[in-house]
Amino acid sequence: MTVAIYPGSFDPLTHGHLDVVRRAADIFERVVIAVLENPQKRPLFTTRERVSMIQESLLGLDRVEVATYGGLTIDAAREFGAKVIVRGLRAVSDFESEFQMALMNRRLHPEVTTVFIPTSLRYLFLSSSLIKELSAFGGDISEFVPAHVVEPLKQRLGQPGGRT
Ligand code: ADP
Repeated sequence: MTVAIYPGSFDPLTHGHLDVVRRAADIFERVVIAVLENPQKRPLFTTRERVSMIQESLLGLDRVEVATYGGLTIDAAREFGAKVIVRGLRAVSDFESEFQMALMNRRLHPEVTTVFIPTSLRYLFLSSSLIKELSAFGGDISEFVPAHVVEPLKQRLGQPGGRT
């Protein structure tokens, strides 16, 4: 059984992430979405919030599960028994740092391979940070994130109807 880990911040989850998850689940028998616990990155949502947003989006995808990790992605991959690290690729700008990371991870543990899944055209420009910015300034984000992510984002970023 080939296990793949799909690591990231998912702060918050977008349709771009979900597109990668679906494609990975078509290829690999088990896909572990691994949410990075990264307090130093000061995420907008707690790890637990990010995990439950993902879980809510996965209803029906039985090869996929959600976990959290800290430290090095390559160590998490080994811990979860994954031979593959899945990363999504958008523009060429993603490529350089992703390639660097993939080669470093291979040097550390050659038995784990990074597989890049190109984004769908409609999500080419989509990133969690852009979504946060758009939401903070009142833009309509409903097309880019699952429905249950829209409200928490508005609340956290202080839009009308929110807490702050
Ligand atoms: P990280 O901080 O690890 O980059 P992200 O949550 O931003 O965490 O991204 C996790 C993974 O999902 C990365 O491989 C990233 O390239 C990919 N990704 C993010 N947005 C998209 C998108 N719109 N289409 C395809 N892949 C994406």
